[in-house]
Amino acid sequence: MSTSDRSSDDRIISVLILGSGPAGLTAGLYAARAELNPFVVTGMEIGGQVATTDVIENYPGFPDGIGGAELSELFKKQAERFGAHFEFDSVSSVDLSSNPFKVNVYGGELLARTLIVATGASPNHLDIPGESNLTGKGVSYCATCDGWFFKEKDVVVVGGGDSALEEGIFLTRFAKSVSVIHRRDELRAGKLLQRRARENPKISFVWDTVVEEIIGSEAVEGVRVRNVKTGEEKVVPTDGVFIFAGHVPNTEFIVGQVELDEKGYIITDKYTATSIPGVFASGEVADPFFRQVITSSGTGAASAIAATRFLEDNQ
Ligand code: NAP
Repeated sequence: MSTSDRSSDDRIISVLILGSGPAGLTAGLYAARAELNPFVVTGMEIGGQVATTDVIENYPGFPDGIGGAELSELFKKQAERFGAHFEFDSVSSVDLSSNPFKVNVYGGELLARTLIVATGASPNHLDIPGESNLTGKGVSYCATCDGWFFKEKDVVVVGGGDSALEEGIFLTRFAKSVSVIHRRDELRAGKLLQRRARENPKISFVWDTVVEEIIGSEAVEGVRVRNVKTGEEKVVPTDGVFIFAGHVPNTEFIVGQVELDEKGYIITDKYTATSIPGVFASGEVADPFFRQVITSSGTGAASAIAATRFLEDNQ
């Protein structure tokens, strides 16, 4: 079924899901099992951020871990088995002023009785000179995607959270050295990853330091860094810069339509309901705190159950 097939009033979608990370895929599974023929607009990356994660070690049921892409594919397959429909497209704008809601995707306009927003979050940029023009030329936000290009090279990782260490450890499969540059002298990452990173002979840490510029014209040649305690500045030669400085929620398309917090995350109640009746939000787009595959899946299931109840109560 194509997007245009859905655009007339007699083809109003019962449950329209935006996003195909763990939240969107799980919402698709639950809504499909409620026989609501959910329509999932996948976004540009089926599986979302999880699909670009090398190994997931904390999703229950996989004691030996499972590849992020493989887990996403299993989620999708399970939702499809019960009838969820997937459309490879992205949302550009929504009009939630009346029900059915109008959702514009690049393939046309969709009309929906309930909407589950599960558009996730995207990596934060540092907004420093050299970052945007060298993206894809040595600057990356995904070690799983780009690590292979850095065989026997020296790379830096920016950040001190779980992503920085997990991806930094992954990069040691390829790189000659991985230097983790963190703006404080204490890591935000969990203890297990901290231990693994500290024990890895290829990983070193540069504390209390921020990257102020990425140097290079056709490829990354180095980073200009500043120690925030001493003020000392220097250039560190490197072949690659991997940035893991947190995330921003993907909510630009919905600004002004539902209530957002000061950082742009969708505000929900414990039933994943937003400020608009019939619109629910799950996963990282509404969660600046937990941001785990399991919690995103859990809220995705909750959104589908809440949407099902909403449809029953508003026939
Ligand atoms: P995060 O926990 O928000 O950490 C972001 C890191 O980037 C922090 O260390 C922060 O420094 C640093 N940072 C932020 N803005 C910066 C800037 N402008 N310049 C320099 N450094 C900057 O993000 P995350 O590591 O991507 O993790 C996101 C969530 O996913 C977390 O809840 C995490 O637990 C989860 N996650 C879990 C796993 C796992 O369980 N294996 C793996 C990956 C992610 P400060 O510390 O000084 O704030």
